[in-house]
Amino acid sequence: MSADPDCIFCKIVAGQIPAKKAFEDDELVAFHDIHPWAPVHLLLIPKMHIATLYEVGPQHDALLGHMLGMAPRLMRQLGVLGGFRTLINTGADGRQEVPHLHMHVMGGPRPWLKG
Ligand code: AMP
Ligand code: ZN
Repeated sequence: MSADPDCIFCKIVAGQIPAKKAFEDDELVAFHDIHPWAPVHLLLIPKMHIATLYEVGPQHDALLGHMLGMAPRLMRQLGVLGGFRTLINTGADGRQEVPHLHMHVMGGPRPWLKG
């Protein structure tokens, strides 16, 4: 499994820096964002280092489907039943700050801080 030693999210995957994990399986990790926009704000990431959505190819179709499919399951498990948003920022113009593919999954009762 490819990892980038300088990548903060690879370090979370490896347990080298702490994170409040909500879910983990062979392919994915979900953890709570340190600056949540919403009452529940998860980041759902592949364990393998993929920098951005630009780097994905057909070989990642199942992984991407797995990521999207986990979003409603995680929200339900965390008691978010009224709706949620999913967001993937890509590249500089897409305001991606951490170059390891991640899906924001945000939910919970309004008002939210952002979004
Ligand atoms: P983006 O702008 O899509 O790249 O979002 C990156 C997100 O990662 C931001 O919402 C940050 O608050 C969040 N973040 C950065 N470092 C950490 C960390 N160590 N643990 C949890 N969330 C983080
Ligand atoms: Zn990484």
